[in-house]
Amino acid sequence: MTTAATATGAGKNALKRACVIGWPIGHSRSPLIHGYWLEEHGLADSYERVAVPPEQIDGFFADFTATGGYVGGNVTIPHKEAAFRAMAHVDETARALSACNTFWLDAGTLWGSNTDVYGFLANLDAGAPGWDQRRGTALVLGAGGAARAVVFGLKQRGFDRVLLANRTIARAQELAQDFGAMVIEWADLPRAMGDTDLLVNTTSLGMTGQPPLELDLAPLSPKACVTDIVYVPLETPLLSAAKARGNRVVDGLGMLLHQAVPGFERWFGVRPDVTEVLRAKIVADLLASQ
Ligand code: NAP
Repeated sequence: MTTAATATGAGKNALKRACVIGWPIGHSRSPLIHGYWLEEHGLADSYERVAVPPEQIDGFFADFTATGGYVGGNVTIPHKEAAFRAMAHVDETARALSACNTFWLDAGTLWGSNTDVYGFLANLDAGAPGWDQRRGTALVLGAGGAARAVVFGLKQRGFDRVLLANRTIARAQELAQDFGAMVIEWADLPRAMGDTDLLVNTTSLGMTGQPPLELDLAPLSPKACVTDIVYVPLETPLLSAAKARGNRVVDGLGMLLHQAVPGFERWFGVRPDVTEVLRAKIVADLLASQ
């Protein structure tokens, strides 16, 4: 059995294992991303999927240091909040979001972070350089878990005015209160779009198998940048419509790729790059599974 000592890499030249946990977990593309980087960097370490049912998540973390055999991992739906509660230490971002998507062992103690914020911002930095030069108004659709990361990231980046529209107003109000955003009614979107510098969809609307996002972009400034964190399909109807009228657009796949960078560096000691080759590999997998 792998011991905590080997899991933390204390054993000289010990192979490191990291994982992604969720329920279900078969859909996760994290093993493809990290597997690509391990190969690229000539590392014999590993990254694997672990299916953890909700009733076992507390036990999974309680036993982690003794029996896990892993140096750390990623957390996906539905365990991000449980992971946050299970950590002995969390960084400022995880604390703000009350959710962890990345964790690691440090001297036998569990540490957690949330790299969705980094992933969201780094994706825009790479896909639309200068997108944040005018930190005027950001308009965010949705108020779920991903929206928390997006709104926190935008406030961190210096956006003064973050408007939030969501089907369930109470959820938007809670998020707005936590991070200093402003809630608007869905019906007021056309009016808000005129002043918008950045439009972000964080709802699951427009995703394959989900209802469409019905939004007429006619009032949107041609200078606004539009991003959709949904990446199946890669070019959502929102992005197609924005592109057709000349807005700068950034798809959501880059957020997934960039959020993986800090974890890989933490577990395996090398900072990996998000490259076109990696992106093409994941795009091919997305297309193959459609
Ligand atoms: P979530 O917590 O379940 O939130 C879902 C959001 O979508 C809520 O705002 C919800 O509104 C809204 N919504 C769902 N169905 C709706 C409908 N029929 N009409 C109107 N609004 C609807 O999910 P999440 O974790 O935030 O994820 C949201 C999306 O982002 C998913 O598609 C996920 O795959 C994607 N995502 C992408 C990345 C990336 O790396 N690119 C990272 C995380 C998530 P209510 O509050 O009213 O229910």
